[in-house]
Amino acid sequence: AMVTRLGPSPTGFVHIGGLYVGMIDKDFSDHTSGRYLLRIEDTDQAREVEGAVEQFGRAFGYFGIEADEPEGEYGPYFQSQRESVYLTFVRELLRQDKAYLCFATSEELADIRARQEASKAPTGYYGRWAIWRHAGDEETAKALDEGRPYVVRFRTPEDGPLRVTFDDAIRGKLQHEANRNDAVILKSSASSPRLPTYHFAHAVDDHLMRVTHVIRGEEWISSVPLHLQLFDALGFERVTYAHIAPLMKMIPGGKRKLSKRKDPEASVDFYIEQGFPAPAVQYYLRGLANGRLAEMPLQEALSTPLALDQFGVAGPLVDLVKLEGMSADHIATLTSEQVYEQVLVWAGQFDAELEAVLKADRELAVKAIGVEREGVENPRKDLRKWSDFRPQYGFFLPALFTPAAGPSDERVTPLNVAPEVVTGFVNAFVDAYQHLDEQPEWFNQIREAAAKNNFAPSPKEFKKNPDAYPGSIREASQLVRVALTGSTRSPDLHAIAMVLGPDEVLRRLRSLA
Ligand code: GLU
Repeated sequence: AMVTRLGPSPTGFVHIGGLYVGMIDKDFSDHTSGRYLLRIEDTDQAREVEGAVEQFGRAFGYFGIEADEPEGEYGPYFQSQRESVYLTFVRELLRQDKAYLCFATSEELADIRARQEASKAPTGYYGRWAIWRHAGDEETAKALDEGRPYVVRFRTPEDGPLRVTFDDAIRGKLQHEANRNDAVILKSSASSPRLPTYHFAHAVDDHLMRVTHVIRGEEWISSVPLHLQLFDALGFERVTYAHIAPLMKMIPGGKRKLSKRKDPEASVDFYIEQGFPAPAVQYYLRGLANGRLAEMPLQEALSTPLALDQFGVAGPLVDLVKLEGMSADHIATLTSEQVYEQVLVWAGQFDAELEAVLKADRELAVKAIGVEREGVENPRKDLRKWSDFRPQYGFFLPALFTPAAGPSDERVTPLNVAPEVVTGFVNAFVDAYQHLDEQPEWFNQIREAAAKNNFAPSPKEFKKNPDAYPGSIREASQLVRVALTGSTRSPDLHAIAMVLGPDEVLRRLRSLA
């Protein structure tokens, strides 16, 4: 059984990379009858944002990534509530002389850093310059008496190898320079509560919470030597590490990490606001994690366990066009009712007007969604995400549709038909209009009204002699299309007319006359 955990910091931004790792964590624990726990790493209180934990819960909830232990017997799962736990272990390290109090001021630290940088000695301990590493009990007691603030530093073992080798479940054997800095493990005594640094907190928590696999971003690889020292000093059994390559974005001339600052798609909220269905995003992310899953159909890919040895070492590219394609494919497999329900949920959060209209006109909306979807072998793929509903289907709903304002409406003018011809054609069509079920007969009505108004019977004919006609049957049909949909591109016109019904069809046609 694998016990995994995600340790998000509540900074008010939920990164898609966090969701990616959370999905991986959950997948491994689920498929090994393990546990996946969520630990809020809120030890950096300056960076904390009000409501961030709730925001995180909503974002992960949308994708169905729920922790087995948001609370449980190994909690609390907020690091800020675990002060006494960390202090116990800090005290133990102090007692064993594996840690020490450091009263260095920020000026002194800057000075040490400068000297460290100036020195070329690669093996130099931070502690060589750090007076407090070697301070005697009296000196420390005196500083304490004076009430000087201090941090607690880890006393880096002096006898370790210069390079350390460790296993990574994705990358295999890794070699890294040993840690030679006396890292801070407990932050300043001047702050309250007294919180540990990430390095120390994760070691204590991962041990106490029985975590077996630390799956995290590759930016932590360079910290592993320190983490191993901490685990050893604390007498903890080591965990298995798996460092995940970051999600990348293609840019001109190369690629780079998805940037919280520059790329809207770096945020999980982006996918929710755009209305990407959760299974499509999960499918996509799983394909990025293990390429072979991208070759499988969605359902199979969602239920096939991930394998650590199939992760790439290079960061996978997030390609929104690809995601949209996969999402459109997925939506095409849904029934009209399912699409309706999902659009309604999305609108409930992001488009109140659409929500109200959908609720009021449910039957029409479901019928509209069914155009070229129900009963056809290859359904239309015009919905890539729920926010596409309004631009693609909004015209069906009278409350969201603005009929043309006469024959010179700006949506009509690109067709290049003189206003009086538009009016003549539309009137002829309206006069003869019958709401016919059969598409060919229905279309014949357009043909007849067009002929009466001297439209050429074919585009070819029109092209041969453009001065003889106001346009061809194609322009005539487009006039009907613009009247009914407000656009020159739409699904099958007859199908649309059938959904709108005779009254609405006539009302929209007359708006052109
Ligand atoms: N709080 C850390 C972060 O936000 C967690 C890293 C880890 O998973 O160990 O990156």
